Amino acid sequence: MTTIVWFRQDLRLTDNPALSEAFADGPVLPLYILETPEQAGETHPMTGASRWWLHHSLKALRRDLGCLIIMEGPAEAALARAVEQSGARAIHWNRCYEPHAIARDKRLKAKFSAEGLSVRSFNASLLHEPWELETKTGGPFKVYSPFWRAAQLRPVPAPLPRPGGELVLPDGLGRPLDEFALTPSRPDWAAGWRDLWQPGEAGAVERLAAFLDENLKGYGELRNRPDLPNVSRLSPHLRFGEISPRQILAATRLHTDLHPEQAKDGDKFLSEIGWREFAYHLLYHFPDLPAKNWKPTFDAYPWRESAEDLAAWQKGMTGYPMVDAGMRELWATGYMHNRVRMLVASFLIKHLRIDWRHGEAWFRDTLLDADLANNSASWQWVAGSGADAAPYFRIFAPVGQGQKFDPDGVYVRRWCPELARLPNEVLHAPFEAPDRMLKAAGVVLGKTYPRPIVDHAAARAAAMAGYEAVKIAGGNAAE
Ligand code: FAD
Repeated sequence: MTTIVWFRQDLRLTDNPALSEAFADGPVLPLYILETPEQAGETHPMTGASRWWLHHSLKALRRDLGCLIIMEGPAEAALARAVEQSGARAIHWNRCYEPHAIARDKRLKAKFSAEGLSVRSFNASLLHEPWELETKTGGPFKVYSPFWRAAQLRPVPAPLPRPGGELVLPDGLGRPLDEFALTPSRPDWAAGWRDLWQPGEAGAVERLAAFLDENLKGYGELRNRPDLPNVSRLSPHLRFGEISPRQILAATRLHTDLHPEQAKDGDKFLSEIGWREFAYHLLYHFPDLPAKNWKPTFDAYPWRESAEDLAAWQKGMTGYPMVDAGMRELWATGYMHNRVRMLVASFLIKHLRIDWRHGEAWFRDTLLDADLANNSASWQWVAGSGADAAPYFRIFAPVGQGQKFDPDGVYVRRWCPELARLPNEVLHAPFEAPDRMLKAAGVVLGKTYPRPIVDHAAARAAAMAGYEAVKIAGGNAAE
C-alpha cells in the first residue's frame, strides 16, 4: 500500500515515526506543502530568516531521501491531488502543536478518513505529548520545575533508526523548490549564512556531536557567556525537526555515561530542552499565548509607542553596547545568544516600555530558530506576563550585564567594532568614558556610536511606575 508522508516540522529521516511506519507498509510518496499564511490560517507566520533555513533544509531532505515532491497549498487540495495521482491509501504526518496547525490537521484527518484513507499522526518533536503531563490535581502545568520533574519520570522511547524503501513519484506532481523563492535575492542579506550554518539532518547530527565532544563540559556555567562557544546552537535544527529531542536525550545520556564528570552539565543541557517542552505544553493548553498576556492584569500596562526607539533597538543603535551587540549578532547571523536575548528583550519591554509583541514579531522575522512556542513563551517570560515568568521588577542593567557576561569585551568588540579600541573598563558604558579615552579610541559619541537613547536610572523608574498599573489591576506579577 502506498502511503503519502507529509513532512512539516520533521525534516529528517532518523527517528521519524511517520516515515518509518509508512515504509513498513510499502512504497512512500514523500511530500512537502508550502502553504501561505492565509491558506494555513496562520496569525503569526514565520517570515524572513526562517524561510532561508527552510529552503536549505528542504534541499538537504531531498538529497537524503533521493527525492521530495514540493507542492503549493492549500494542503487539502495538494493532498487530494497527491492521493489521486498516486493511488495512495494512507497519509502519515508527525504532529505540529501551533493552534492553526492543530485546527487544520483535525479537519484534514476527518476529511480523508471519511474518504476511506488511513490517516495516522505521530509524535516526532517532543519528549512527551502536551496532554500526557498533568499536575497532581489534573490540568496543565503552569510552573516549569514541577513540569520538568514530572516529564523526567515518564519513559521516553528510544529514537528510531533511519528507514528505507521504495519511493513513488507520480509524473507532473510538484514544483521545483527554487520557484517558491524562499531565499532572499535583492539584497541577499543571507549571503554569509552558508559559512555559519549547515541546515539539514547531517548538519544537525554533526553539531550535536561536536557540542557534546567539545563544549558540554562546563555548560552549566559557561552557557551564560556569549563570548564563549559553550552552547549547542541546535535551535534552528530543532525548529525544523532535523533532529529530535529523543535523539538529543539519548546522545547526551550516552555521552555522560562515558564522561560521568559531565553529568551535571548534561542535566543542565537537557533541562533547557525541558524549557522547550514547557513552552509547547503552554502553547498547547493556552493557544492565545502568542497574542495575549498570559496574565491578563498586564493588559493594564501603559505601553509606549515609539517607532524611532523601536528602530534604534532593531538596528542595534541604542547606545548600550551589550544590547547593540546582540541585535547586530541577530541581524548578521540569524541567531542570538540566550543571555543576550533576555537582555535585549528586557531592554525593549522595560527600558523602552514597548509592547513585547513588537519584539516577538521582530524576532520571528529575523531568527533562524523562530518558533511560535519558544518565542512567545520567552517574550512573556521576560515581560513578566507569562507563566512562571521572571518578575517584572527584575530589570536587567545593560552595563552590568555586559561587564558580568562579557568581561573581556570579546562579544561587544566583535559586533560593535567601532568601539573595539576602548579599554575594558569603559567598553560597556562608553558614555561614561572620559573624553581623552574616547578620543584615543577614535569614538565620537553621537557620530561613530550613538549616545544612550534612554538613561538607565530614569528608564527603570518609569518602568516601575508603569508596573503600578498592573498591580492596581489586581495582579501579583511577582508571584
Ligand atoms: P542551548 O543552550 O544549546 O539549548 C539547547 C536547546 O534547548 C535549544 O536549542 C532550544 O531548543 C532549547 N532551549 C534553550 N533555552 C530555551 C528557553 N529559554 N526556552 C525554550 N527552549 C530553550 N528559542 C527558540 O528556539 N526559538 C525562539 O524563537 C526563541 N525566542 C526567544 C525569545 C526570547 C526573548 C528569549 C529570551 C529566548 C528565546 N528562545 C527561543 C530561547 C533560547 O534563547 C534559545 O532556544 C537558545 O538561545 C538557542 O540557542 P542554543 O541552541 O545554542 O541553546
